Amino acid sequence: MPELPEVEVTRRRLESALVRKRFKQVVLRVEKLRFPVPVELTDILPGRTVRGINRRGKYLMFDCEGGWLLIHLGMTGFLRLLRGGSPPGKHDHIDFLFDDDTLLRFHDPRKFGIVTWVAGDPLQHPLLAAIGPEPLSGDFGGSCLFAASRGRNVAVKQLIMNSQVVAGVGNIYANEALFCARIRPNRAAGTLTLQECYVLAATICDVLEGSIREGIDCRVAEETVAYYPQIFKVYGRGGERCCVCGETLDEIRLGNRSTVYCRACQK
Ligand SMILES: [Zn+2]
Repeated sequence: MPELPEVEVTRRRLESALVRKRFKQVVLRVEKLRFPVPVELTDILPGRTVRGINRRGKYLMFDCEGGWLLIHLGMTGFLRLLRGGSPPGKHDHIDFLFDDDTLLRFHDPRKFGIVTWVAGDPLQHPLLAAIGPEPLSGDFGGSCLFAASRGRNVAVKQLIMNSQVVAGVGNIYANEALFCARIRPNRAAGTLTLQECYVLAATICDVLEGSIREGIDCRVAEETVAYYPQIFKVYGRGGERCCVCGETLDEIRLGNRSTVYCRACQK
């Protein structure tokens, strides 16, 4: 599943490819993804220019002169940049064709993605209004995490994966950030000290920023926007040795998500 860094890398790539370009045609080959895809897109978008592409949490927001195209990649979605006339394959649900023959193609095998249109302020849209502070914007920090964790018995990993507490931290980066902050994922959130909250908040930002840099450096598949290889310290490595102390990494389920940690390094 694409997480915040993948979405941000996608945003930057699309921004450099699409800003100032004008939509020529929209082709819908699907009626519904996670929600129905508005048929009006085929009328609304042609003739409009992309003024910019923003991101809120894992939502991409295309500023289209007086309205916004909102795209969420869901579990398996990705956006590919091609040339007009490229034949669609299986699961290629939506094509956005631009005046200069650039083609933006939305592909999503599991159809959990979202593509919709917002005429007003997109940040007030019900899907976006409830999203918590952006980890990379300066709105999120230790004091904010401390406040959100008071009196909470929920596991700290589940707390930081709650998008109302902090936007866009999914399973992969929650595992990695807790390892780097030396905090056990299954600790009750309310037991975190203020100092630990500062360390964890800073670590979340570092892990996300590091992954964005890695994604930007990665030139493996320029036109396949979304995934890139990376090396994780704990994610997907249950049973292997801890890269810091050499102990065997434990794997447990938390909120039905795979959770890997080092019992020696994380307290
Ligand atoms: Zn260790």
